[in-house]
Amino acid sequence: MKRRDIFMLSCTAALFIIAILCGAMCLSSIRHGPRPYAAAAGVCIVCAALLWFIVTARVYAAKSRRQLAAVTMIDPLTKGDNSSAFQIKLKTLTSQAPPSTYTLVFLNIKDFQLINENFGVGAGDNTLKYIHSVLKSHIKEDELVCRSEMDHFFLCLKDASEQSVTERVAEIAEAVNGGGAYTGVGSRITLRAGGYLIDNPGLKVITMQDRARAACINAPEDAACAFFGPALLERKKREGILNSIFAASLKHHDFQIYLQPKVRLSDRKLCGAEALVRWRHPEYGMIFPSNFIPLFERNGNICILDVYIFEEVCRLLRSYLDARQALIPISVNLSRSHIKKPNFLREFVEIKKKYQIPDNIIEFELTESIMLSAEHIKLVKNVIGEMHKNGFLCSLDDFGFGYSSLSLLKDLEIDVVKLDKSFFDDVLNPKAESIILGFIEIAHRLGIKVVAEGIETEDQLNSLCRLHCDAVQGYFFSKPLSIVDFEAWSRASGA
Ligand code: C2E
Ligand code: MG
Ligand code: MG
Repeated sequence: MKRRDIFMLSCTAALFIIAILCGAMCLSSIRHGPRPYAAAAGVCIVCAALLWFIVTARVYAAKSRRQLAAVTMIDPLTKGDNSSAFQIKLKTLTSQAPPSTYTLVFLNIKDFQLINENFGVGAGDNTLKYIHSVLKSHIKEDELVCRSEMDHFFLCLKDASEQSVTERVAEIAEAVNGGGAYTGVGSRITLRAGGYLIDNPGLKVITMQDRARAACINAPEDAACAFFGPALLERKKREGILNSIFAASLKHHDFQIYLQPKVRLSDRKLCGAEALVRWRHPEYGMIFPSNFIPLFERNGNICILDVYIFEEVCRLLRSYLDARQALIPISVNLSRSHIKKPNFLREFVEIKKKYQIPDNIIEFELTESIMLSAEHIKLVKNVIGEMHKNGFLCSLDDFGFGYSSLSLLKDLEIDVVKLDKSFFDDVLNPKAESIILGFIEIAHRLGIKVVAEGIETEDQLNSLCRLHCDAVQGYFFSKPLSIVDFEAWSRASGA
């Protein structure tokens, strides 16, 4: 209760007591003889005081109830419904409609922590408020929205078709990204979404929410919205199989390295290769990284796999050394899961020593998504220092895809930056070209080499030559190749 309310209630109580005392005095004066006016006045004062007290008490009780409801039903940040209010309203809505009328959608902002870390908690809060306002403006009558916690939102849409729900979610994601100016966050905000078609309104709301959340967690990276249903269960089953065959596959060397050439632009000669894992299973055939890397990043198997691939690369380089063949620098991808482990590099250093690989031949590719916070950047800075001390090169992979920050180039002693494929989608646009040129110039001034990834066309290649990019990697020259094919390719290209 506020101070003002306490003051008002105290005044009311004091006036009530004074009124009762006045009334009592009037009534007691009757003892000294019949005084009808005094009696009437006394009764009126007491009744008025009682009435006044009852009315005041009721007004304050109603106000307190409203305040209590606000505390328990309203999200203090967005001022919209909170989780409890949403759950109550969802139950009412769905129990009054036939099954399969509504779809429950769970939304989560990808890497929201980055927004807080890079732009401050204020910008994070503004982003959440802004997203809530966009969601609210996109729902219709008889539909619901709430922020349930942190950066999680729920929508209840009066829509039963997966296609139309996906379209609406994509529309919302598009609208959210018109909002850089409102949120103070210049970079693209990615929404991850999972839906559950409420086919059984008798379920507990919490179960419905779990289903929408599960669909979101297991959604493929590129899906605008994934749905709970047989496909998801099938995927989970597939992932279960992949997990169960992982150990045996390692043992049987079902994981193989494929090499994708990197071509120097000054003389169009092979200047290196990236090692990319391929899983060739005798029963399930070729399995691509997108089908198992995210899964293994979630369950930690990726650390085992990365060490395995690294050792395969060392073995290959050793065979070239033994055959007195020229070595080409090879880069290997290093998942962000390693970075959290203290001394993780020791294992790689031991393997490098075991195969007696010369310094500066192997490069580690780190994705910029490793750099979640200032703390992570510090950690990565130390890791890069250790890599250099132990004779490894280091590159920043997929730069420009997410929340890239030029200051990363200043903070980290990297040797190479790999510009993401998305940079070159619009390469004929003079503005896009100017941005790439500016970036290449900055990197060169900092002594960092630039490799352009995902180069597929002659136009892209010509533009990158004009912009003095150091090297390119992409289907224009070659897809990732098995070792035998890579060796044939490099012989044929005269590298
Ligand atoms: P990445 O490291 O950015 O690798 C480049 C990906 O782009 C590769 O996909 C490659 O095949 C593809 N690519 C190359 N040129 C082109 C092009 O011109 N057009 C298009 N559309 N794509 C192109 P891939 O081999 O499927 O690998 C995908 C991602 O999986 C890699 O992205 C990397 O992040 C991860 N990955 C692959 N192997 C490993 C590994 O051994 N360990 C770890 N931790 N991650 C790996
Ligand atoms: Mg890479
Ligand atoms: Mg890459």
